[in-house]
Amino acid sequence: MDRRSMLKTGGGALGALGGALAAGCATGVADSTPRSPFKVAAVTLPIAGSDEVFPVRRIYCIGRNYAAHAREMGSDPTREPPFFFQKPSDAVQFVAPGTVGDHPYPSLTKNYHYELELVAALKSGGTRIAKEDALQHVYGYAVGLDMTRRDLQRFMGDQKKPWEIGKSFDHSAPIGPIHPVAMTKHYTQGRIVLTVNGQIKQEADLSYMIWSVAEQIAQLSEAFELKAGDIIYSGTPENVGPVVKGDLLVGHIDGLPDLQVRIV
Ligand code: MN
Repeated sequence: MDRRSMLKTGGGALGALGGALAAGCATGVADSTPRSPFKVAAVTLPIAGSDEVFPVRRIYCIGRNYAAHAREMGSDPTREPPFFFQKPSDAVQFVAPGTVGDHPYPSLTKNYHYELELVAALKSGGTRIAKEDALQHVYGYAVGLDMTRRDLQRFMGDQKKPWEIGKSFDHSAPIGPIHPVAMTKHYTQGRIVLTVNGQIKQEADLSYMIWSVAEQIAQLSEAFELKAGDIIYSGTPENVGPVVKGDLLVGHIDGLPDLQVRIV
């Protein structure tokens, strides 16, 4: 009996099976992990209070979810249903609490904007999730910035072309660690404040959201099958605005550590 047929038949004695498995690994026969010619880094975020990491699957973002911001962007918040877009998962830029992350001013734009947002991170998902059940799928929350090349977003929108270049570029999603609900709470109210160089630029309350996190999950799950690892940027309050190199941005949401980045 050769080693391959031993593997197929179970091999008999444990020692023989071990030999067959070792041979299988060497030839690729028993190795279930597909080999690839290069490595691609997994995207993960630290979990606060844990040595585990949160694997990021997709980044969803909701547009115009605070009435005053919808108005400043030129739409009527009373009539518009929620809409979503995505960033690539490797657009996350993790910044540890108590540190200031260097955030690169991106190419192609002359009008680079901050949008401070609460981020919900999912531990499970599904389709057609009821609003009442939605928060069961939330693993935790983080503070995030939905950085935006506003000139490119507007330019593409005016031409009825896709927005990706304005929203879905490298490093466009600075974010802090995920705080598990088990350690904190669901964030449905509380101050959300962004300062630039110490001056308050955005200031609102999470309760001003048009669509709550639960409603966002319910709505998103009508269009996509949500899964563990998905994170949802829940929209920004009014008074978005531009930054330049050297600016220090501090994002604050009551109950979470500040997110700090410097534009470089
Ligand atoms: Mn946004």
